[in-house]
Amino acid sequence: MQTVSTISKKSNYYIQLEEQFGSHNYHPLPVVLSKGEGVFLWDVDGKRYYDFLSGYSAVNQGHCHPKIIATLTEQAQKLTLTSRAFYNDLLGEYAKFITEYFGYDKVLPMNTGVEAVETAIKLCRRWGYVVKGIAENKAKIIVCADNFHGRTSTVISFSSDPSSYAKFGPYMPGFEIIPYNDLNALSKALQDKNVAGFLVEPIQGEAGVVVPDENYLSKAKQYCEDANVLFIGDEIQTGLCRTGKMLACDHENVRPDILILGKALSGGTLPVSAILADDEIMLTIKPGEHGSTYGGNPLACKIAITSLSVLKEEKMMENAEAMGRLLRDELKKLNSPHISLIRGKGLLNAIVIDHPRQDAAWELCLTLKENGLLAKPTHGDKIRFAPPLVITKEQIEECVEIISKSLASI
Ligand code: PLP
Repeated sequence: MQTVSTISKKSNYYIQLEEQFGSHNYHPLPVVLSKGEGVFLWDVDGKRYYDFLSGYSAVNQGHCHPKIIATLTEQAQKLTLTSRAFYNDLLGEYAKFITEYFGYDKVLPMNTGVEAVETAIKLCRRWGYVVKGIAENKAKIIVCADNFHGRTSTVISFSSDPSSYAKFGPYMPGFEIIPYNDLNALSKALQDKNVAGFLVEPIQGEAGVVVPDENYLSKAKQYCEDANVLFIGDEIQTGLCRTGKMLACDHENVRPDILILGKALSGGTLPVSAILADDEIMLTIKPGEHGSTYGGNPLACKIAITSLSVLKEEKMMENAEAMGRLLRDELKKLNSPHISLIRGKGLLNAIVIDHPRQDAAWELCLTLKENGLLAKPTHGDKIRFAPPLVITKEQIEECVEIISKSLASI
């Protein structure tokens, strides 16, 4: 495969700066971006690209959505942070809005996705002790192999990916890893009376957009109910219209007992995350027992309200469903010998590359970049195709042409 990845002098300057002064915990594609609007990104030389990653699904509403940016700039000039030592005039309004939006009694606001996962774990354990009656320090949470729930030391303790956990031990106990999409394994694991929760991604995004069998989620929820175990849905990547429903769990009419949201909750402007649950669960955490300086800050609250509002106003759920279907259909029509699998729901999709070269997916992404489309491989041979949900039919068609042309150069 012939890859021509051009890097301008200007881009190289920024890349070298990061390389020299930044930690080396990422391996970015060599493109330096300085502007975004809707489905497009521009590099420092003014070249335009389709964004097929959407900041790992944080930018569902499109880059610099005018309403979200207007909210950001307006609120930023009024009040940004009070801490939870005092009340502010937006947290209550936001709490009412988001709980009505998703149909839960209460919300607990946090910032990054992994903090929300941590919060869900703490809340689930607390519920396990206080409500279910599990003996002190015995609570167990079932998780799935190949999960991705973030990067804190507790969360990597139950990762099955050595690049996440290796040499970061000792690890947090209290988790059992079972295979994903395996109801028998779940049923067996649920026999342990100390199980408090089952933490699951409705589609495994980072693993390469792994979609479980139909009815997996609904059966898993039923099994959890039967075992008096909380079903914890990590919808940080799959939620907020990404998969063609408001939540990916909605595809199977599953209502998680604890719902975890992040990423697009702020349309890509600030780290804003949240967990939602009903009173029986949420009120087991009392004042002073959990918190975050930035969690529930007025700027985040106001932005989250607007970010959620535009999803509905602009029918992004319906667009994700229709454009996702079109994207997968058009990709199938390419009949490329280098694509062994096309999978996904809505606009959360991935292709699996079939090529003898180990780095073929990375090389294809370099070629896609040259041709004006930005995507990133995940787990070697998979490439995620997840553009902002405002993408149009004509744009999808143009993107498929770019993908086709790029595949042809393999
Ligand atoms: N959970 C899921 C399903 C994710 O995809 C991610 C991030 O990719 C996280 C949790 C962690 O979110 P954050 O990077 O904001 O901590």
